[in-house]
Parts: sequence; C-alpha cells; structure tokens
Amino acid sequence: MNLDRVTLSNDVVYVLVNAAIQGYEASYKQERLGILLGRVHQNGAFVEHATPYRGGDRTRSAAVVNGDRFTRRVRQLSTKHNSLFLGTFHTHNEIAGTLSSAMSLEDRNHLCEDPPHLVELIVAVWGSAQPSRPTQRYLQGDVGSYRFRIAGYQMYPPYNLIPVYSHDAN
Ligand SMILES: [Zn+2]
Repeated sequence: MNLDRVTLSNDVVYVLVNAAIQGYEASYKQERLGILLGRVHQNGAFVEHATPYRGGDRTRSAAVVNGDRFTRRVRQLSTKHNSLFLGTFHTHNEIAGTLSSAMSLEDRNHLCEDPPHLVELIVAVWGSAQPSRPTQRYLQGDVGSYRFRIAGYQMYPPYNLIPVYSHDAN
C-alpha cells in the first residue's frame, strides 16, 4: 500500500471543519479528533464517513485517548457503516501566534493498531482576516468567517504529506 492522495466527500469536509471551529471557539481552544472511514482504490484513500470522537481529555494542543476504548469504537463504526478504517483526523490550534499543519512526533502515534491506521488529516481553522497562501498541497477554503486548511499524511514511514481533494459524494 502506498497512498498518494486522499479524497473527502463534502459531508466529511463539513464534519472536519465544524469540529475545528468548535475547538477554536472553546475556551482556551481545544483539540478535536475523530475517526475516518471509507475505502482505498488505486493508491487513493476515499473518506466517506468522519465521526468526532468524544472520549478522553483534551487541551489546546493534545488529546489523551485510551487506545483500547478507541479501537472498540473504530470497530463498531466500521461494522455500522460497512466501511474500512482509514485513520483519524485531529485539529491544530494556533499556539503563540503560529498555526502549523505539520505532523508532530506525537501525531505519529497510532490510536488504533488493528485495523491499521493508514492516513492522518490535520485540520486548522483561523479568522479570515489573515489570508492563506494558495497551495496545491492542502485542501483550503472558507466557511462563514473562518478559513480552513486540511493536510493529509501517510501514517507509516516516511509519513509523507499527500494531497487532499474534495468532491461531492453524489
Ligand atoms: Zn497534531
């Protein structure tokens, strides 16, 4: 398996950006995370379902999650949607004036080992007064008064950044 792109349904983009906006608007800002399900076809991951995960403690820059409980939830959702576990998403908040879409070393932790964690999406939002630079690497856009940026990574060495696209699920 060598994934070279991630495609999101518009519903999935909506869930991810809303999770990031809720984290952004929470007092002191909080990280949000969730589970991605879908399918793999010709080196592309197609994300068809995104479900926020509410277990664990969260702060501005981290969420502490119990791996066994998380894995049970992954298997439950995978059965419910008859869909493959692809990985997780999490949000990045601005820290000391900077907003990173890079994977930290902790971001490489697999919250679920089996089924395997294939991709990670990092979702960032910020106030639209600060413009974003155009890029082909990230999925970027506007929702209300926010801009968002979604970055995709392989969750196996060398943890490459891979382009993220969106399309209408219809
Ligand atoms: Zn992170």
